[in-house]
Amino acid sequence: MDAPTAPVALVTGGSRGIGRAVVTRLAAQGYAVAFCYASRDEAAEQTVRLAKDAGAPQVLAERVDVTDRTAYGAHVSRVEDELGPVDVLVTCAGITRDNPLLLMRDEEWSQVLDVNLTGTWVACRSVVFSMMKRRRGALVLLSSVAGVHGNATQSNYAATKAGIIGFGRSLSKELAGRGVRVNVVAPGFIDTDMTAVLADGVREAARGRIPSARFGAADEVARAVSFLASDDASYVTGQVLGVDGGLVL
Ligand code: NAD
Repeated sequence: MDAPTAPVALVTGGSRGIGRAVVTRLAAQGYAVAFCYASRDEAAEQTVRLAKDAGAPQVLAERVDVTDRTAYGAHVSRVEDELGPVDVLVTCAGITRDNPLLLMRDEEWSQVLDVNLTGTWVACRSVVFSMMKRRRGALVLLSSVAGVHGNATQSNYAATKAGIIGFGRSLSKELAGRGVRVNVVAPGFIDTDMTAVLADGVREAARGRIPSARFGAADEVARAVSFLASDDASYVTGQVLGVDGGLVL
């Protein structure tokens, strides 16, 4: 009899921050893991090492832009050929280009929409048909507290993160009858490269608004993601789970 094959998890933006924590945690749970990333190959190589050390039976990393539909489709085909059909997709790829509305340049608006919102759509569309055919799959989409409550100077980013909530909830209704669950995670302030750029004063002001009185760790988000991806959440779909230390912006 053939040995049982490992379940396969695909992560966008897996080289750093929350994506790296998700890759590592799913690896520790026995998933074969694959991820794409935009830049900084050495960070991706470090994530591959972490996933292997955590026990992943297979790890595949590729520098692929989620907004490039052709390249992303080729990435998914390679993952399916080498690891098997995708059981779990986690969309972490995201960027910020903050500015007050009147100072926001066209490209700051469109880059954030392309990567955060269109990239999420591209990734979901690339795996959903195969999941529907197998009547098995879980999508976990990364939103943000900014998408739930809004945040000054982040109108572009908040629009994408609110869009991901509407997109995810709609998809959950389309796919529930086909055995595919879709949930959204909305982190608050998490210690990653994305928040490392905040000025000290901004960090302190943010911390003062968090009831838990600290920024979260990337692995605290990854634990919520891994629950929603797992069969422990077999009757959970269309939900938005805040992982934010109680923050309301
Ligand atoms: P990060 O900047 O540390 O990492 C971002 C990852 O996305 C990297 O792996 C990068 O290579 C990848 N990426 C960026 N553009 C890409 C593209 N075009 N194609 C493929 N990959 C691309 O960010 P993070 O803090 O880990 O954030 C991860 C997700 O969580 C994002 O969607 C972010 O909006 C969301 N989030 C983060 C926080 C926070 O406080 N850090 C809070 C709420 C939501």
